[in-house]
Amino acid sequence: MPQPPSPASRDEPVIRERGDACPGALRLHAADDGFLARVRLPGGLLTVRQASVLALAADRFGDGHLELTSRGNVQLRGLADGCGGGLAELLDGAGLLPAPSHERVRNIVATPMSGLDGADGADRPDGADGPAGPDGLDAPALAMEFDRLLCASPWAAGLSGRFLFAFDDGRGDVASLGPDVTVLGRAAGRALVRLGRAADAVELAGPDAPRAALAAARYFLDAAAEAGTQAWRVSELPAEHALRTAEFVRRLEDAGIAAHAVGAVDWPYAAPPRPGPHGAGGRDRATLCVLPPLGRVGSAQWRVLAAVAEEGGGGLRVTPWRSVVLPSVKTDAPARVEDAGLVIAPDSPWETVTACTGRPGCAKSLADVRADARAVADRARGPLPVHWSGCERRCGHPRGTAWVDLVATGAGYRITAPGRPVPHDVRPPELAAALADARNDPDVVKK
Ligand code: SF4
Repeated sequence: MPQPPSPASRDEPVIRERGDACPGALRLHAADDGFLARVRLPGGLLTVRQASVLALAADRFGDGHLELTSRGNVQLRGLADGCGGGLAELLDGAGLLPAPSHERVRNIVATPMSGLDGADGADRPDGADGPAGPDGLDAPALAMEFDRLLCASPWAAGLSGRFLFAFDDGRGDVASLGPDVTVLGRAAGRALVRLGRAADAVELAGPDAPRAALAAARYFLDAAAEAGTQAWRVSELPAEHALRTAEFVRRLEDAGIAAHAVGAVDWPYAAPPRPGPHGAGGRDRATLCVLPPLGRVGSAQWRVLAAVAEEGGGGLRVTPWRSVVLPSVKTDAPARVEDAGLVIAPDSPWETVTACTGRPGCAKSLADVRADARAVADRARGPLPVHWSGCERRCGHPRGTAWVDLVATGAGYRITAPGRPVPHDVRPPELAAALADARNDPDVVKK
């Protein structure tokens, strides 16, 4: 079971000796296993046709696999040199490249189970009155509306590829991912908008949230320009240029959006959807959450998901936890998905294990971290999430939670767990026992 947020979160290092090198669908990244393309999926939303096109692209140009990212996007790897034009044409034809100038800034996550799991007032984790889900803030719909506004704003192309927007229906799942701009659903169709990690927020009508999020992005770019430090994210602004809620309210008023500041907010937290069927899918139907081990899906497996989604009629939702939510699937869908080698069982050892690319895809890696993770997954279970990294950069590590950190050293792995001594150079024969020990520390788990 995933753990709630804790003070043990760690920030990724700020790298300023080079420009923002985030890959995109048009700006490919040269990796050791070929070129890599990252296709942004605002809200993680995909139609069945778009999903089918991604499988085709993986087979035609790449290594036949898709990777799910920690922002609910999809990556294609092993792309051949010179395939960029063909890939862009394919993606564009499926509506996956609506604004080429903005393709890398469409980093938008949304509550994947919004409207699907029957959340209602009684279920609200923040204890507020009124519905947060089906009758409240429709997080995916607002994310799509915001994406349209973002792509229609030429200045927004100046955001970095790391700036993150979150549309959370009120439960506190994607709001816990450390976004730069957070929209959080409240009772009676209201919403909060938070800048960075501010304790306070502004409150406004839910339908105004996309325009308010756009105004927040503009405010950040103005502050970053004034600071002159090339900040990529809200938290990187120097203190004297930090975003202020009062100024944000003033800007919203100028944009014709009625809003007022609210004091310190008790920000809610909800765990990610667990693998398996979830309720409220209608008669003989369910919403199915599917977990591909380590976020990697073969094109044949992906086509199974697309076929199941087509029967459900609700498309696919790629989550920031490297899973896929399929609304309203038939009763035989779980068995078909499991037969394809994908995880639908809660308490699978893969639920809390993530890894960076490692060897052979990344030249910086000191180990084949995915192979090592697979080798011990069954024998190193525990409540604390674990992330395997091939080097100190720790790409894709968990956010907003305590986690066990394995970093390849060349002679083994350094294993770091909150509040624990740090064993260095743990070699494969001892890895399973050492990792199981770190993941089950009772002092950390009970917090
Ligand atoms: S953490 Fe290091 S080894 Fe892993 S993908 Fe990132 S740069 Fe490569």
